[in-house]
Amino acid sequence: MAMMKQDIDFSVYRKNYPNKDGFFGKYGGSFIPPQLVDEFKNIYTAYETICQSSKFISELRRIRKEFQGRPTPTYHCERLSNSISNTQIYLKREDLNHTGAHKLNHCMGEGLLAKYLGKKKLIAETGAGQHGVALATAAAFFGLKCDIYMGEVDIAKQAPNVARMKLLGAKVVPVSHGLMTLKEAVDAAFEAYMNEYDEAIYCIGSVVGPHPFPLMVRDFQSVVGIEAREQFLEMTGNFPDAVVACVGGGSNAAGILTPFLADPVKLYGVEPMGRGTKKGDHAASLTYGTEGVMHGFNSIMLQNEKGEPDPVYSIASGLDYPSVGPEHAFLRELGRVEYGSATDEEAVDAFFTLSRLEGVIPALESAHAVAYAMKLAVEMGSGSILVNCSGRGDKDLDYVLEHYGDRL
Ligand SMILES: *Cc1c(COP(=O)(O)O)cnc(C)c1O
Repeated sequence: MAMMKQDIDFSVYRKNYPNKDGFFGKYGGSFIPPQLVDEFKNIYTAYETICQSSKFISELRRIRKEFQGRPTPTYHCERLSNSISNTQIYLKREDLNHTGAHKLNHCMGEGLLAKYLGKKKLIAETGAGQHGVALATAAAFFGLKCDIYMGEVDIAKQAPNVARMKLLGAKVVPVSHGLMTLKEAVDAAFEAYMNEYDEAIYCIGSVVGPHPFPLMVRDFQSVVGIEAREQFLEMTGNFPDAVVACVGGGSNAAGILTPFLADPVKLYGVEPMGRGTKKGDHAASLTYGTEGVMHGFNSIMLQNEKGEPDPVYSIASGLDYPSVGPEHAFLRELGRVEYGSATDEEAVDAFFTLSRLEGVIPALESAHAVAYAMKLAVEMGSGSILVNCSGRGDKDLDYVLEHYGDRL
């Protein structure tokens, strides 16, 4: 593995990975029903064309500035840093992106692509509702229809997000078979898409799924790392020593980490270790998983002997995915990104600490990255760490108060 690292020239990495078939080394690809092969090729060709069109680029730039409120700031957490060691911790404030998380970065890109392709509808599934809300926002902006598939169990749990999606004009389609959660919603959304791909596009919510989604979502999210890199250099005159992001499917991590690949910077992804290391108690796919194909791509996944996804758990519903984007599996194999973890308890501690010391309430997902940075700050003793604060924690307040209210 260490050998392979020398073979890669990271200054031209983005041009070479993924290859034209969507592979990052052996990970990625496109494992889809034959009737969709041409449609996914169309999406890829359209994407390749529009990324070079100055009209598309300037339209996306305008949307980011005027609608999303980009660039989001990079912020030096002096009080948090001083409470730990001499290591200086900085946050990339994606919690200040419109709708309160990084997800809108790729949803707006996917919406603009849908417009270009002449599609009339965006289709997706959602678990906790975060991707559904971001996509419904993009659909409202572009005047597109939007069908969001959601398990009935999740609909009951996530009433505020269901209301948001409806308010934004999306149709929330209840899925009432099996366990009635995310897995069934993925299947139902994909099935619907197979019948309407002439009119609709399936918008994947992370750097996962068949080619070209891991590539497109990474590119749309890269704005996070490109901005942060420039801001950090301007603020300090140097690169950070380390960059840290939480990993569910891996989109916010791909966004902030990949623009630093060619720089002398240590890169870390943080997986959710949940309640512990037992199967079903965590969603640390790269830490405990094995190679396999799921949801149309080859990667490292938590699976049983039959190749079916294992049950997963995290306090952060955005992180409980049994696989991970193929590029992360590849970057780990190359030794370029190191993947660690944080438990529920560590994330909750970081949630309280960041709120109290900095006035920033992070999403429980982002709190995993903050928790890891806090551990790393002790280990490093000096230097600097840039953390992707992928979202704001208002959505998690009710849950945290119910379970940890005594810490107030
Ligand atoms: C969905 C979500 C995540 C996890 O998704 P990735 O694709 O791994 O980034 C992380 N943070 C927030 C705030 C989210 O909403």
